[in-house]
Amino acid sequence: MGDPPTESNNRGGGAVLPEMPFLANVGLLLTYRCQVKCPHCILKAGPDRHESMAREDALAWVRQIAASGQVAVLALTGGEPFIDLETLQVVSETAAQCGLLVSIVTNAYWARAYSEALKVLRQLPSVHFLQVSTDIYHQISIPIAHVQNAVRAANELGIPYTVSVCTENESEPAYIRTVEELRSFCEPGSVRTAITFRAGRAAQSICQDSFSLSPEPPKSACTAAASPIVFPDGRVIGCIGPVIDLDVDHPLLLGSLRKACLKDVFDQAECNAVLHALRIWGPHKLIQMALHAGLKNHLPTQYVSNSTCNACFALMADPVIRNYLLELNRDHEFMRKVAYARVYYLGEDAMLRRLNPEISPG
Ligand code: SF4
Repeated sequence: MGDPPTESNNRGGGAVLPEMPFLANVGLLLTYRCQVKCPHCILKAGPDRHESMAREDALAWVRQIAASGQVAVLALTGGEPFIDLETLQVVSETAAQCGLLVSIVTNAYWARAYSEALKVLRQLPSVHFLQVSTDIYHQISIPIAHVQNAVRAANELGIPYTVSVCTENESEPAYIRTVEELRSFCEPGSVRTAITFRAGRAAQSICQDSFSLSPEPPKSACTAAASPIVFPDGRVIGCIGPVIDLDVDHPLLLGSLRKACLKDVFDQAECNAVLHALRIWGPHKLIQMALHAGLKNHLPTQYVSNSTCNACFALMADPVIRNYLLELNRDHEFMRKVAYARVYYLGEDAMLRRLNPEISPG
């Protein structure tokens, strides 16, 4: 599937990524269909999947997203969104007409030759940004030359791009070779790494031993939880991380567009303390709190190194911790603390204003 969240902000030191304002980027998952069936796909996308977002739903939700006034970028993802080029054209054109910037996440299967890549991208004049995914699993079916063709065509048409590479372990030789090859033809800074999630198809097909493990949880904050994603069935989930694989209620399940309008879902998300705690401190903070609450036996003993998402998924997947987190989302004292931390660390006062309507603007 599309571009996974790359790892992430570290308030304890180390690399820091630019902070994404909350709701500035929203994803629309157009389809579960994909021409490949990668073993690490958290969505379990593939040629045998046929669920897609109905075009009328996609257009209605794009209009609601634009009308919210909060969203700048619409990310179209899947599955493989290029599999239905006509829908991609209609949705991206509508989004652009509504004033949204459009990015598309793809595995570049369509870029079999440079001329073909140019021809395809020219049919999508409303696309402002391309996010290409490749790694050892994609490369079984989609050679890296396709990525090069897509990148050259994007360059020719003035479309900025990133290339995301997934790996279980950053010291893995095939991953290192892939990154070196990509750097030979990609713009500096455009190649990103994401750690494979042990969720979806990867939960069965990728062995825990492939990962670099540590008894310490990662210290980074999560930048990706600023960008919720809408699914074909109307669910809105706080990020495109492994939590999308959970089919139970959890704190990052923000609502359903079949039951509420997007504005109400976004309004509620402004006061989702667990989600914003992940953005401010990362899962590390929630793990510490769960430890203090006496839930040690429900926490992992080993964490995947440098992967906030794997730690976050471990929390949400455990029923006892999940209930604890759902309770935290109703804990006024914790909500207040997070609201102040959002102002301090992220410069966002929307949550504080909702909790304290008497605070005057400015
Ligand atoms: S799974 Fe958790 S850490 Fe990963 S992107 Fe989602 S909220 Fe962030």
